[in-house]
Amino acid sequence: MDFAYSAKVQDLRERLTAFMEANVYPAEKVFEEQVAQGDRWQPTQIMEDLKAKAKAEGLWNLFLPESELGAGLTNMEYAPLAEIMGRSLIGSEPFNCAAPDTGNMEVLVRYGSEEHKRTWLEPLLRGEIRSAFAMTEPGVASSDATNMEANAVRDGDEWVINGRKWWTSGACDPRCKIMIFMGLTNPDAPRHQQHSMILVPTDAPGVKILRPLPVFGYDDAPHGHAEVLFENVRVPYENVLLGEGRGFEIAQGRLGPGRIHHCMRSIGMAERALELMCKRSVSRTAFGKPLARLGGNIDHIANSRIEINQARLLTLNAAYMMDKAGNKFAQSEIAQIKVVAPNVALQVIDRAIQMHGGAGVSNDFPLAYWYAMQRTLRLADGPDEVHRAAIGKYEIGKYVPKDALRSSR
Ligand SMILES: Cc1cc2nc3c(=O)[nH]c(=O)nc-3n(C[C@H](O)[C@H](O)[C@H](O)COP(=O)(O)OP(=O)(O)OC[C@H]3O[C@@H](n4cnc5c(N)ncnc54)[C@H](O)[C@@H]3O)c2cc1C
Repeated sequence: MDFAYSAKVQDLRERLTAFMEANVYPAEKVFEEQVAQGDRWQPTQIMEDLKAKAKAEGLWNLFLPESELGAGLTNMEYAPLAEIMGRSLIGSEPFNCAAPDTGNMEVLVRYGSEEHKRTWLEPLLRGEIRSAFAMTEPGVASSDATNMEANAVRDGDEWVINGRKWWTSGACDPRCKIMIFMGLTNPDAPRHQQHSMILVPTDAPGVKILRPLPVFGYDDAPHGHAEVLFENVRVPYENVLLGEGRGFEIAQGRLGPGRIHHCMRSIGMAERALELMCKRSVSRTAFGKPLARLGGNIDHIANSRIEINQARLLTLNAAYMMDKAGNKFAQSEIAQIKVVAPNVALQVIDRAIQMHGGAGVSNDFPLAYWYAMQRTLRLADGPDEVHRAAIGKYEIGKYVPKDALRSSR
């Protein structure tokens, strides 16, 4: 494995870093203030300004491996760039590289029809609209996606969709015009062929955004995480992606690249938390010494550096495997980094909070919010336990026949 940056990546890293320093970090407070003014669920002017500026500089759609529509970067090449964007909670959207749009756009590129691409992918790529992914349901344990009960029934040349979803990230934003709905379309089919992914416009009659769900009290406006009711929603039959019963086939593709992006971003956030921790530790004095020289604080800093570097290498390893062997064959590596990245980021942010004392849990520093966001990734990307189960199964699978580990369902 060669982890050296190509000239192209090095150039993009430098330009992205300069853009973050000149534009994104100074905009963080402005963004907060604009969200707090009036209706929190409206897009902010500052974000639209940042997008226009980044686009003009050619820092746009850097994700999308194996497609001429993006910057033509592999997962390995994109990883260090997503890390830089991940240093700020508002750092990805200016470059049109924010979740869940990146994953959704990849789905449309790979599985959308020409019509889907024209109607939804093109405005998404231009950054004019946003999107959501509606899979999780309040009524069933959604870590097992075969449990999904919200359904779509064919009626002539339409689907009729009913059910309740929640944690549909981004659906509160008025710019969110399209959702990828994952629902039950054939309960009698084999387990992994019962569900389909269907494109549902957010303004389709019967779609009701019931409420935004806060995360530890943070509403994440104007993006938000919505509970959504689908009541006799009718969409054309052609809105099904790839084909009826092929939802899990798509999920394998989407949950690879789209979700490893979170890991890359988490590492960026951990880096910035370490930076804040170091600065605080040398700028405050207690008991006659800088904080860095008290107790085990220097060890906390050292351990943070070690863990971040380990996590980065593991992420690059997963990206490398995805590029070389394909998403399907990289499943264990993807699962490994999904466990490691948010846990490392949480650990580092927690130490940074501690080094900041009371200030660490206040809103004067971003650490408390970052902590809340990283904590959700231990669930939002699928619970740690599910990833561990997949890794363990893969390991054991080397020593037993494939079917021996199958459940009776
Ligand atoms: C901030 C946030 C954003 C999200 N965004 C989206 C989104 O945009 N779209 C979307 O569809 N969903 C989204 N989700 C939902 C997320 O994907 C689910 O919460 C997750 O898949 C878990 O499903 P669940 O909440 O139903 O938990 P459950 O399935 O009820 O699981 C609860 C717990 O059971 C345990 N468990 C489950 N399986 C195993 C196992 N195999 N071994 C051991 N223990 C296990 C774990 O501890 C797990 O946390 C988001 C969630 C959050 C918090």
